[in-house]
Amino acid sequence: MGISIAMSSKRTEWRAEDKALPQVRTMHAYVPGKQPVGGDWIKLNTNELPYPASPAVAAAVAAEVEKLRLYPNPLSQPLREHIAAMNGLLPEQVFVGNGCDEVLALLTRVFSDGRNIACMTQPSYSLYPVLTQIQAAQMQKIPFARDMKLPVEAIRACTANLLFLTNPNAPTGVEFAPEDIRTAAEGFEGVFVIDETYADFARHNAVAMLAELPNIVITRSLSKSYGLAGLRLGYALASAQIVALLDKVRDSYNVNRLSQAGALAALKDEAYHDELVATIKATRESFRDALLARGFFAYPSSGNFVFAEPPARTGLSMTEAASSLFAYLEAKRILVRYFPGDALTESFLRISIGRPEQMDRLLQTVDQWLSNE
Ligand SMILES: *Cc1c(COP(=O)(O)O)cnc(C)c1O
Repeated sequence: MGISIAMSSKRTEWRAEDKALPQVRTMHAYVPGKQPVGGDWIKLNTNELPYPASPAVAAAVAAEVEKLRLYPNPLSQPLREHIAAMNGLLPEQVFVGNGCDEVLALLTRVFSDGRNIACMTQPSYSLYPVLTQIQAAQMQKIPFARDMKLPVEAIRACTANLLFLTNPNAPTGVEFAPEDIRTAAEGFEGVFVIDETYADFARHNAVAMLAELPNIVITRSLSKSYGLAGLRLGYALASAQIVALLDKVRDSYNVNRLSQAGALAALKDEAYHDELVATIKATRESFRDALLARGFFAYPSSGNFVFAEPPARTGLSMTEAASSLFAYLEAKRILVRYFPGDALTESFLRISIGRPEQMDRLLQTVDQWLSNE
């Protein structure tokens, strides 16, 4: 007894931090949008769908429950085959992961480290630099101008081993011209990741480019356009060579049975998905028009969200106006997303598209804020 007390007091000097890799010790974890518990919040801060997923998902998941004793298909092979057929590709060109975020993490694991730098456009999804920090890889940032046009020449001049481009971009919602993406990817030596999480809400996608450019990886998610953020299912479309590399470094059972079954059911119910997407796009357009009519600036959006800059208010800078409206909405139990600390985002709010009646409540609250001089 005495001995173990003596040992444990000596052990108080032992710090896990000292044993951690330096890049982990100094990094900051990704901060997800708030998930409030209970209450009557209007939640427009993490681009989730305001509608339930296809009813076929619940049935497929329930049927799978009795098989949970058994390991899942290690390759998620039925999903790979279905996703390949949907996109006119071979199953060898599809990788399935536990959310798009896992696919992105595995890409950084394969293609970045202390000697192999990564690159991203800025502003974009703030998870990318967290993932490359874990790899002790440097992250180069190519800034957008306020017009949000793709910086094609800067990308072609970039010598990174791995590049992340979000298209449509987040948080702006801006979709890049396919010719610009092709020109940028053609002139880039490394692995060119196009994060198409929001592509279902957009006009174009890059699937046709896979046949021409071996360095392209397209990543997708069922979290946004399928209303399945809680299921955790994402995938990549790429060359068979890139997929084989991702398969080497993933967990052997990276996607659980319930997710595999639920995702397959959701993907098969195309009519339901088409209707969800059409509804969100219609709400997005009328919501954006309503903001423009109130003097906001808002980029045209190809996502399920709008990035909007409140009009100038007397006595407030543009940044103060955005943070004032953010706080005002939160006080009225309406959650949106605010990204301070970057000149291209700090005067804007990112507002997810909810149900029409939720957008109306938000607009009424905006009107109250506008009338409080
Ligand atoms: C939401 C989001 C993801 C995450 O997708 P999951 O499938 O939920 O992991 C990835 N990329 C972008 C740009 C996103 O907005």
